[in-house]
Amino acid sequence: MALQPIQIICNACHHTSTEIPTRSFLGFQKISCPHCHAQLTYPLTSGFRATYAIFAVLIILSIMLNLSQGQIGFPGLIGIAMIYALVRDWQIRKQLK
Ligand SMILES: [Zn+2]
Repeated sequence: MALQPIQIICNACHHTSTEIPTRSFLGFQKISCPHCHAQLTYPLTSGFRATYAIFAVLIILSIMLNLSQGQIGFPGLIGIAMIYALVRDWQIRKQLK
């Protein structure tokens, strides 16, 4: 899945440019500023966000199911990583506004 070029404004030097991002671990879009080489992180693409959101709901449902049976469920490492990615994505999008 190829990433689309996105318009960036560098946090460090305020250089604006249109660059093709690379994908980081967990699916965030990473770009290095062509002017000062600062590493910029951009939000998840919509496909990743939707996938993580669906899994997060399933994980929460399975934890609640476990709790209703008197057991304590844990989301597991993958679940924690997905929930972390959603929170991080939300923070990045808030910063960009
Ligand atoms: Zn820069």
